[in-house]
Order: sequence, then C-alpha cells, then structure tokens
Amino acid sequence: MPDLKTVVAEIAAEMKERPDRGEVAKYIPELARVDPNAFGIAVIDAEGKVFTGGDADTPFSIQSVSKVFTLTLALGKVGDRLWRRVGKEPSGSPFNSIVQLEREQGVPRNPFINAGALAVTDVILSGHQPREALGEILRFMQFLADDVSISIDHGIAGSEQRWGFRNAALANYMRSFGNLENPVDFTLGVYFHHCAIAMSCIQLATAGRFLAHGGRNPTTGHSVVSLDRARRINALMLTCGHYDGSGEFAYRVGLPGKSGVGGGILAIVPDKASIAVWAPGLDAAGNSHLGRIALEILTRRMGWSIFGA
Ligand code: GLU
Repeated sequence: MPDLKTVVAEIAAEMKERPDRGEVAKYIPELARVDPNAFGIAVIDAEGKVFTGGDADTPFSIQSVSKVFTLTLALGKVGDRLWRRVGKEPSGSPFNSIVQLEREQGVPRNPFINAGALAVTDVILSGHQPREALGEILRFMQFLADDVSISIDHGIAGSEQRWGFRNAALANYMRSFGNLENPVDFTLGVYFHHCAIAMSCIQLATAGRFLAHGGRNPTTGHSVVSLDRARRINALMLTCGHYDGSGEFAYRVGLPGKSGVGGGILAIVPDKASIAVWAPGLDAAGNSHLGRIALEILTRRMGWSIFGA
C-alpha cells in the first residue's frame, strides 16, 4: 500500500504546477476574485490522522458542498417525509436548471441541484425565523468540524442575494406549486447564507467524517446519523453530487462526492477516509477541474474507488 502522506504531498505539488486550471466562477465578483492558483487537500483516515497538502488551511466558500449538511439536518427534522418534497434521481441538468420543475410539478429531482437544495432549506426553515435556521446550520457545521471559528462570508452572501435572479425564479416557481412553505425571500436568504459558509479543507474533511464511518465520528464517538442514513446520503452524493458531471465523477474517481462552485469537493471513502480538496477553477459542468483530477489520482494510487481497487 503506498504511503498516504507521500501520495498527498506529491498530488499537491503536481497540482500547483499544472497549467490547466479551469475557470473560476464569475457569476458574482467575490468569487471571480479568488486566486486560480490556489490548491488544497486534506485527507483524514479512520484513526483520525490528518494528511494535508497545499492550501489546506485556507478558508474558501463551500457553496453547494453545504447541501450535504443541510440534507442531513432536514432528514433529521422530517425523516423520509422529505422525499415528498424532493426526489432522489440524478438530474442530468446544470445545477441551476429550471426545465424539469415544470414536468415534475415543482418537485426537484434531487437535493443537490439548486431547486432541491431550496426545498431542503425551506424544510429546515419551517417553524423558525431565518436567523434561527441559519444559526442551526452554522452551529451544525461548527460541531461537525469541531471548530467554533467557522463563519459565514457576508460579502458573498450579500452578493448572491443581489445577483440571485435564477435562484429567485426557481424558488418562486416551486412556491407556485406549493413546494415552498415559507416566504420566498426567507428561504432564499437562508440558502444564500449557508452557501456562503467559509471553511478550509481540513475543516471540511473533519465535518465529513461521519459519512465515512457509518454515521459517527470515530474520534469523538459522536453519533450524527444512523448507518442507514449515512449510506443513503453517500448514495445521493455518488449519483447526484456533481450535477450533470456526476457520471463522469463516478467513472473517473469512483467515490461519493459533493462539489461547489467555490471549487471545493468533499469526497468519502467508506470506512477509510474523508477527503476535501479545493481548486477554484471549474470545468464546463461547474465542478472543480483540478479537484477532480487530484481525487482521480488519489483513488487510483490508494486503490480507494468503491468499485474496486
Ligand atoms: N450559491 C450557488 C448558487 O446557488 C451554489 C451553486 C453551486 O455551488 O453549485 O448559484
């Protein structure tokens, strides 16, 4: 078995040198300003040993990676009733697509496209004020990452709010079918703010550990979800975690993973490791270009694909 520390260091060095970096997200100025040369990786094994390379300590905007954690919270709140509000099928469409909503009566295809994440956010919000719901999401991230310093980048959240016309269209459209319960502005506000949580690769990999170890953080012993639920969240990450690039990610990397337009990816190696990578340049499907390549090299060298070593 190759030495994980060496493999992670070699990947970080190789990624820093590569000229093909993808395009950073430009839909808001705050993300367009991020350094395209940044690259970070953190791998935490079953014993809790942390292996890092590059900018593993630098906080970045987790964006849609937050959807894994809001899904976990919403399932905790309403259980399988959640699946009346959102489906479990890959969309084959871009992250912000509206087309399938008409055919499917305002029920988004899965919790990881924007429409689905808005429905999930709405479930968390029901019965609370937006501030409380957002506080709950942020505290959950701090608890999972064991780090109370994690915060929201309010510049990014405000900018998303100013430029979020497409998300507002999705939310209003779903509301017209009765699939949002709260005032649209409230749901959108909580959604934009949880996407704007800033975390480093080390914090994100720590937060994902429960998904790698049957719903429980093996170091603290804290149980977050049942084994069944962890398995199902991983299944959704595998099939839907990279929008219309999910098939390509499964084919090349072979792990449950969730990407965000900030360039982060959380990937899970069941029973073995939780991984976070960050490279801000994106591919055509809006997923981190070098993040995916780094994970492909890592899984190949470590024999970590869930489809066989
Ligand atoms: N806040 C982004 C949006 O809703 C998240 C998209 C993403 O990370 O894919 O447009």
